[in-house]
Amino acid sequence: MSKTKIDINVFDVDRELCSGLIRLHVLHHAAEEPIFGLGMIEELGRHGYRISPGSLYPLLHGLEKKGYLKSKEVRNGKSLRKVYRATPAGRKALVAAKSKVSELFRELMEGK
Ligand SMILES: [Zn+2]
Repeated sequence: MSKTKIDINVFDVDRELCSGLIRLHVLHHAAEEPIFGLGMIEELGRHGYRISPGSLYPLLHGLEKKGYLKSKEVRNGKSLRKVYRATPAGRKALVAAKSKVSELFRELMEGK
C-alpha cells in the first residue's frame, strides 16, 4: 500500500497555482481581524504553506494597492508594526471569491 503524504508543502505542488489561494486566505483573515506579516506567515505555516517574508510582503502590498486591504502602523513595544484590515471592497471580493471556491471545490472533490 502506498503512503500518501498529507502535509504537502503547497509550494512544492505549484507556487503559481496556489498563490490565489494564499491571497484568499490572507483576505479571509484580514476580514476577521487585523493581521500583520509575521503572524500571517505563521498562520499560513499551520496550513502547510511555507511562505517567506520576501513573498508575503509584496503580496500584502499588492492587495493593498488593489484596494482590498488597508494598512496602518501600530506600536508594538519599541517598534512599529504594520497591520492590515480588509476594506469594504476586499470583503466584497472575498464574498464573490468564496462562491467561486465552493463551486470549484464541489467539482474538484465531488466530481459535480
Ligand atoms: Zn487560516
